[in-house]
Amino acid sequence: MLFQKRHTIPAHTEELTLPMKIMTIYAHPADTITNCGGALARHADAGDDIVAVILTHGGRIHPNKYAEEMRKDNPDPAIAAAGLQDIVDNKKDELRRAAEIIGIGTVVTLDHDDILNVLQEPMVAELAEVIAEHAPDIVICDYPKNPVSADSSHTIATMTALAAIQQAGQFLAHLDGQKEINVRQVFFTGLSVHNTDALSAYGMRNDMSVDITPVVGRKIAAMDGFVSQGYDGVFARKLVEANNGEAGRAAGVNFAEPYTRYRGETHELFPLTEQAKVTDPLTRHVSYSQINLRADYPVS
Ligand SMILES: [Zn+2]
Repeated sequence: MLFQKRHTIPAHTEELTLPMKIMTIYAHPADTITNCGGALARHADAGDDIVAVILTHGGRIHPNKYAEEMRKDNPDPAIAAAGLQDIVDNKKDELRRAAEIIGIGTVVTLDHDDILNVLQEPMVAELAEVIAEHAPDIVICDYPKNPVSADSSHTIATMTALAAIQQAGQFLAHLDGQKEINVRQVFFTGLSVHNTDALSAYGMRNDMSVDITPVVGRKIAAMDGFVSQGYDGVFARKLVEANNGEAGRAAGVNFAEPYTRYRGETHELFPLTEQAKVTDPLTRHVSYSQINLRADYPVS
C-alpha cells in the first residue's frame, strides 16, 4: 500500500541557541528577587541571559523608610520631604544593586505609576516591543490571582505579560517591521500552596521547584539591598527561612522556589529529575534541615 503525503508542512523549529534567555516581568522592583531571585542566580551562574522587566516605578508600594519617618515626633526633614522622584530613584538604586548580586544582566524599568488596577492596552503594546527586542525563551511572572483582590497589581502585571507575549507572537515582518517572537514557556511564581503531589488537596498547586540552596546567601544579600521598604535584615531572613524553607521542605531540599508551569510540557520519554533519582525518602527531612540561616547569614 502506498501512502502519499498530500501536504508537507515545513518545520519551523529554530534551534534554541545557548545561552537560554530568561525574562522576568513583574509589577514592582523587589518582586523579581523575592519570587525568583534564587533561580535567576543559578541561571546566571550557568551562563544564561537574564532581563528583568519592571512595569511600575514602585514609588507608592512599601514606602516604609518615608512613612515610618513621618510617624516620628521629629522626622528627619531630608527623608520626610522626599518627593516621588527621590523615592523612585532610590528604589532603582536598590534594584540595581540587587540585580548585580543575582547576576541579572539587563534591567528594563517602564516606570508606570504603581496604581495599576486594570489592563492597559498601551502598556501591552509597549511590553510586546520589549519582548520582541530581547526575544526571551522563557518568561517568569506572578501567578495571576483573583483580579478583584487587593493583590491585583500583580495579577494585572501578569495579564499584561500574557497579552504582550501573545502580541509578540503575532508580529508579522511585513506589517510590523518585526517578525514573530515565540516565548517557549512561562513559569508563574507566588501561588502560595505547597501541596506535595497531584492528589494532596485535589486543587491548584505549584508543579515544579528550583533548588536555590547553593545561592540562598545571594538571595538574602540581594534582599538586604531593599532597605527603603524594610525588606532587608530580619525580613529577608524571615521570608527566605519561612517561604523558601517551606517550599524547600515540600521539594525535599533546604530552600526552594516554587513555580507553576503555564503550558503543559511535552517529552519524548517520561521525565525523571536528577533530584528524584538521588533523594532518600528515609532521611531527606533531616538532610534538608541542615542550614541555620540566621547563623550563616547574620543581620549586619
Ligand atoms: Zn509587588
